[in-house]
Amino acid sequence: MSASDTHDRQGARKRPERVRDFIVLTTGGAGLLTLLVVSGALGFVEGIMAAIVLFAGALAYYVGSVPPAPPAEDGRATASTQSVADNTSIQTLVRALPFPALYITPDERILVSNRHSGALFRLNSIEGALKSVIIRQPDVLSATDRVAKSGAPERVEFQTGEGDELWLAHLTPGPEKKSVFVIFEDRTAVHRAERARADFLANASHELRTPLTAVSGFIETMLGPARDDRESWDGFLEIMHQQTERMRHLVADLLSLSRIEFSEHRAPDTIIDLCDVTSRSILSLQPLAHDKKVHLDFDTQASDIPITASSDEISQVVQNLVSNAIKYSRDGGRVKVMTGTAPSMSEAGRLATRFSDGAGRSILLQPRASSEARAAWVRVEDCGEGIARKHLSRLGERFYRVDESRGGEIEGTGLGLAIVKHIMARHRGGLAVASKEGEGSVFGVWLPIADAESRLTDD
Ligand code: ADP
Repeated sequence: MSASDTHDRQGARKRPERVRDFIVLTTGGAGLLTLLVVSGALGFVEGIMAAIVLFAGALAYYVGSVPPAPPAEDGRATASTQSVADNTSIQTLVRALPFPALYITPDERILVSNRHSGALFRLNSIEGALKSVIIRQPDVLSATDRVAKSGAPERVEFQTGEGDELWLAHLTPGPEKKSVFVIFEDRTAVHRAERARADFLANASHELRTPLTAVSGFIETMLGPARDDRESWDGFLEIMHQQTERMRHLVADLLSLSRIEFSEHRAPDTIIDLCDVTSRSILSLQPLAHDKKVHLDFDTQASDIPITASSDEISQVVQNLVSNAIKYSRDGGRVKVMTGTAPSMSEAGRLATRFSDGAGRSILLQPRASSEARAAWVRVEDCGEGIARKHLSRLGERFYRVDESRGGEIEGTGLGLAIVKHIMARHRGGLAVASKEGEGSVFGVWLPIADAESRLTDD
């Protein structure tokens, strides 16, 4: 329906029709009056008075029925059609935006909003409400007042949820005077990543500073007070050697972690045999087990378990888990490594971390692969001291070490399990732990088996 149609419907008339009506009214009325005067029914003076009144009425009709100006020919709309069009395009725009957005009218009501705004303010319907009822953020509210007044855009940061969500409100003036557009940007993930990065840097530098301080302390002693006490040098050199080894491990683990993170979203594409990789990794750890007088067993349910994986990375997973099991075992203890297959990922997760009754259990990484997929698993079991329940869910966080509270007598970087977690994430697999204090721990990983189709392609 065009704008002029609308006007006709509302009683406004076009110019030729108004002229016609005016002429009919004046000539008809004048003729009637003349007849009345000539016939003597009306006096001359009264006739003139009636003619003047008639003419004034016809003129008032002519002027009063002027239609509102039609849209200009060059396409520019008039004020009222413009505002109808504005509201429609604001609605279309705001509703199409993939993040929360609002349009606030000059009378401080929310005229248009989208479903994302409803989710942000935890309300189903917010259109028509006063802005102060919906936006419970004093900083954002006062900014909407300022923008409505000054017309200058502003940005305001605010926290919501239980203080763990960070949002940025972008405010700009709308097309109507004193109206305001507000668009909300979710900065939570960026904020968390920034904080994690800062924490990581602080932790990494702290971990490096400790051995570095020890080494430089011994160097100063050897150059100063103990310069001539050559007999004490062997002891100093031994500690310096340990500390530089610690730094070397830390730097190696940090490099592994960053390399894995870099390739985490690229799925591996080669097919390897899980049993073969596991048995070779275990072989390389025999010297460590021997030093600690730990008996290292390997048992497999199947001789060939094909998985689509990076051989180096799976080998690192097995080495990290098995070296932890040896490290945290009692001298003369036993570490058992097992591999096997399962009809589904969920069953594999269960088999990988089966342990004695009453043990605490925590899934440190939920697999991304479908729970129905056929799966392979590796479990590493030790009879060490075990881990208290309260620590279980935090294992796999970078630099998280349980033995920090045990006095830190066992060397470690606190990055081994974080590396395992990242590698398993890249392989769409899972990682879980079960443990009972005084009895030992089981760490298990599981991932999908390579299907027959991809094996044929690979061959
Ligand atoms: P670390 O280099 O310190 O061993 P990890 O990330 O490999 O770092 O392990 C994190 C922490 O988890 C360790 O510091 C240790 O406290 C605990 N942990 C890991 N594996 C075992 C295990 N088999 N038995 C007991 N505690 C373990």
